[in-house]
Amino acid sequence: MADRIRLVDGALEVPDRPALAYIAGDGIGSDISPAMRRVVDSAVEAAYGGARRIAWQELLAGEKAYAECGQHLPQQTLEGLREHVVGIKGPLTTPVGGGFRSLNVAIRQALDLYSCIRPVKWYGSASPLRHPEQLDLVVFRENTEDVYAGVEYEAGSPECRKLLELLGQWGVGEAQVAPDSALGLKPISQVRSKRHVRKALRYARAEGRRRVTLMHKGNIMKHTEGAFLRWGYEVCEEPEFAGHFARQGQDSGGRIPVDDRIADNMFQQILTRSADYDLIVTTNLNGDLLSDAAAAAVGGLGMAPGGNVGDGLAVFEATHGSAPKYAGQDKVNPSSLILSAAMMLDYIGWGEAAGLVRRAVERTLAQRRGTYDLVRGWRAEPGVPGAPEPVELGCAAYAEALAENLAAGA
Ligand code: NAD
Repeated sequence: MADRIRLVDGALEVPDRPALAYIAGDGIGSDISPAMRRVVDSAVEAAYGGARRIAWQELLAGEKAYAECGQHLPQQTLEGLREHVVGIKGPLTTPVGGGFRSLNVAIRQALDLYSCIRPVKWYGSASPLRHPEQLDLVVFRENTEDVYAGVEYEAGSPECRKLLELLGQWGVGEAQVAPDSALGLKPISQVRSKRHVRKALRYARAEGRRRVTLMHKGNIMKHTEGAFLRWGYEVCEEPEFAGHFARQGQDSGGRIPVDDRIADNMFQQILTRSADYDLIVTTNLNGDLLSDAAAAAVGGLGMAPGGNVGDGLAVFEATHGSAPKYAGQDKVNPSSLILSAAMMLDYIGWGEAAGLVRRAVERTLAQRRGTYDLVRGWRAEPGVPGAPEPVELGCAAYAEALAENLAAGA
């Protein structure tokens, strides 16, 4: 019988038949979610031979929820995610420029999933880099504040005019802010920045990471991004961390070095000096942009997993969105969601199953079997002598190939 995962004094208690919450997702969610479950179930079976099994519990969100109960994000779904402690979700569509706010952001905020963890690792796809295998880093993106807080005022609205008036009283002139501007707020707080950096440093220690880099745009936004950097370094000095981390300028003495890079420089450094970076801790918008750019170097959005983690609660999800133009075509690459599920398996302490999933992805790509995006990349590369001819598979067939390789590797 399925049992709930429990959070006891901040630690997870995971039964052998845990109920795991999942949201299928909009658009390509209906393609990639079944593929993910197929591969995860095979991995758990191969790793534990029936002694462990996941009982998937579907929760509704997005278009499916709207069709069934007239709401895109029912309270019941948020409660369900909270009660199950750990879950995984497919992508959810957000209208641009109007309509409702992002459901993804709403979930992260409601459950206070304050760190978004996005590993960037090469599994064998085509890459614009000469040595993609050297890129093996993790982006730690703050998940609850910054311009994603959703405090924005439409140009010409009474709130916006009032705010402009107030700014005028504080000496902000038209040269800085034009009178017909829309306005948005970028809150960056000490408490939220520090808890995010603490989580990143604990992760760096637990995962044996060799360098931590604070990414910021503090040269321009001194009181927000600049403060994030200062608070980040302050965390390194806290008793829990000082013996394990050495901030820039200190003699490391065997400790993990922590340094910083300005955001624009960071974008070029991950391409030109890929091997040098290991764990990048940053604010919300920087992290969102950097993780997509880094994903492009290791196979694109089809190969980009992620997890949103708070104090125990966690919801894993691919970096990409609902790609509506490919919805229901059995075409897209489910690897991002499958690799997100591998992160989830690690998170619940089922590392053997997680390892099998990752090795199956590696093996399948080495056989040059993949979805359209992977095959398009391989075909565009100069021929590698002796490499097998790429074979294009649909989303479900690719999941079968993974399951097959997984069984062979167990
Ligand atoms: P997207 O990530 O959905 O797709 C952009 C392009 O990336 C696609 O057209 C496709 O070429 C490629 N792509 C994405 N996923 C792929 C996969 N699994 N395999 C192969 N190729 C893939 O971005 P978008 O089109 O800008 O956004 C569509 C919707 O998704 C929007 O409503 C957006 O708000 C939402 N979104 C949701 C999330 C989330 O659920 N966390 C994240 C980003 C965007």
